[in-house]
Amino acid sequence: MSNKPQIGIVYHSDCFMHTNDNHPERKERLQAILSQLEKENLFSKLQSLPPAPATAEEIGMVHTKQYIEYVHGLCERRAPYLDPDTYLTPHSWDVALLSAGGALTAMRAVMDNKLKTCYSLGRPPGHHAEPNRGMGFCIFNNGAIAARIALEDYKLSRILFLDWDVHHGNGTQKAFYHDPRVLFVSIHQSPAFPGTGHINEIGEGEGQGYNVNIPLPPGCGDSHYAKTFEEIIIPLADKFQPELIMVSAGQDAYHEDPLAGMCISFEGFANMARQTKQIADKYANGKTVLFLEGGYQLQGLSEAVITILAEFGGWKRPINNESAPNAAPMYEDPDEIIQAVKKASILLNL
Ligand SMILES: [Zn+2]
Repeated sequence: MSNKPQIGIVYHSDCFMHTNDNHPERKERLQAILSQLEKENLFSKLQSLPPAPATAEEIGMVHTKQYIEYVHGLCERRAPYLDPDTYLTPHSWDVALLSAGGALTAMRAVMDNKLKTCYSLGRPPGHHAEPNRGMGFCIFNNGAIAARIALEDYKLSRILFLDWDVHHGNGTQKAFYHDPRVLFVSIHQSPAFPGTGHINEIGEGEGQGYNVNIPLPPGCGDSHYAKTFEEIIIPLADKFQPELIMVSAGQDAYHEDPLAGMCISFEGFANMARQTKQIADKYANGKTVLFLEGGYQLQGLSEAVITILAEFGGWKRPINNESAPNAAPMYEDPDEIIQAVKKASILLNL
């Protein structure tokens, strides 16, 4: 056995070339994470893996040929936008392939038993990208591509794909809506972009029951998120017994995030990571692959990412106990939503 760290990150400085100073999803997000890791001398506790660009064939495991060619064409002719929220640069094609490739590098490192946990710090993010369209700052669905290839190449039959980004992971939901091999569970703010993610979206055909949305009102705090794990996510994992855990780990539920209204503190992120690790240790020999999605308050994003890495890596790093509001006034009772999700879940009622 080597003494190499069992936890890693995947990133590439070429991702800085897809950026826009007037947009919240810009290169400084990744730079802030990397400089905080450097400042705390944490690179020694991680394996840093470089991504290889994904191939068009790999992207095509989730996205349609027509959409892939459309994006390529837009980048070739230097179109400034993919959709009104999603900018493009002349480098965006290459960077999007690198971001998707990073997700694959992370997945393979875990599936090949080189690491227990790997966090792909790819940009642009991915979870809003649907098979035939990009949106919400996302070009290709990095996580969904990694999940689809994990199913095929490693013959997996049960991936628990958790999405705790504050926005609904509509792209990932769509990619696996008919597929019972991926149990997709999204905790998100509602109402919020992109407007999907209702309780009654439970999957279709063979996938019925394998899509679980937990749409919480803005204002929810750590205790509400903890309750979704206790009452929904852990019982679902006990029924499903995943072979691999994937997480769309965006940190825009952080209480100071400018794009959302949740009240999560660093302890809240630590708890989500802890609960996820327990599920992974219990069922999947620890195998966990995380993908960076949102998170737009730079100090909060970098602190949250490192807090999550510390939980998975078992580092003795104190959790930053900055004061977060426990919860703000809400127009809807989150407990009622949690009960409604439980009632709607086919898997929990088996
Ligand atoms: Zn988000």
